[in-house]
Amino acid sequence: MIKPTRHVARMSPYALAELSAPEGKRLISLSQNESLRPPSPQAIAAATKAMTAVQLYPDPEWGALRAALSDLHGVPQSGILCGNGSMELIICLTMAFADETGAVLAPANAYPFFRTAAEHARARYDTAPEDGIAASVDALLAAVQPDTRIVFIANPGNPTGTRIPRAELFRLRDELRRDILLVIDEAYGEFSDHLGEFVFDLVGHGDTIVLRTFSKAYGLAGMRVGWGLFPEGIAREVRKVMNPNNISAAGQAAAIAALADQAYMHETCASTALRRDRFITRLRRAGFEVPGSFTNFALIRFDSARAAKGADTALRAEGVVARAQGGAGLPDCLRVSVGQAEELDLAAKLLERWADGGVI
Ligand SMILES: *Cc1c(COP(=O)(O)O)cnc(C)c1O
Repeated sequence: MIKPTRHVARMSPYALAELSAPEGKRLISLSQNESLRPPSPQAIAAATKAMTAVQLYPDPEWGALRAALSDLHGVPQSGILCGNGSMELIICLTMAFADETGAVLAPANAYPFFRTAAEHARARYDTAPEDGIAASVDALLAAVQPDTRIVFIANPGNPTGTRIPRAELFRLRDELRRDILLVIDEAYGEFSDHLGEFVFDLVGHGDTIVLRTFSKAYGLAGMRVGWGLFPEGIAREVRKVMNPNNISAAGQAAAIAALADQAYMHETCASTALRRDRFITRLRRAGFEVPGSFTNFALIRFDSARAAKGADTALRAEGVVARAQGGAGLPDCLRVSVGQAEELDLAAKLLERWADGGVI
């Protein structure tokens, strides 16, 4: 019999929400933080055009994409790595800098894929308590162990939706040992860029990585394009464990064109924020606890895991799929992505009805 390694046999598959609706109901997925609208028409046109030459392998160095990112963000091209989604970068950087002799540390309610990456690398996964549901720099610093190799923090966080200020990230870096790699995952960075709290300059310290993605604000989740700014020496090591031809030609072309259409992306962020805040206000009025969000989703906190499950079931009965958060240590929460106005309206209506039922 063919057997996997003991290590892989012990791993569990990465859990996504089951995307299905009861018979006769339309499936409304608000479970993956996808954009509320398709990408810029320019991105669609560029990807379509790229299809005419896909007998050729894509640019393995992402030259045009890196140049465009470097121009837009004022960061050195030489420090940019592009990934098949930022998930590829998360996995590969973890493989390159952690193994069974060390640990990966993240806030308790961090993006669950950080744990998956640690498992891949066979590193121990440690967590630090949060301050409510916001990452706590003090708690992270207190949780550092002699064998800690990487600290992950998503800012804004997923599934929490909260963020900590730039000054706190600088303090974290200042007080962390210099042999610990700090990874700041800004998958939702575009939704809070209006605050002007960029942290790309931290990468210059030589021990910090900043990750971004085209999957959220740019609406290109299906294209799988992420990127990160790395210290050059670190980029060189991470590159060794990446797929050399990782992003399709269409994906690269779409990302470049999406970057060129900043107005479209800003519009997406603005209408997302507007709908998100209306949704949050409505749920709060109905008595739900919903923290403010800096992302394209809202996190609903219930009185118990049982209540969260009950609300999830009530939503699913009408085809609305939210994301349960047991994997992020928040079994009493549901995360709802900002979708179409009528989808959010239906979700709010169902939640209000469920709350009226007093099912808790
Ligand atoms: C969505 C998300 C990502 C992954 O994005 P891809 O670029 O689609 O792989 C990474 N980190 C966080 C925190 C996310 O929410």
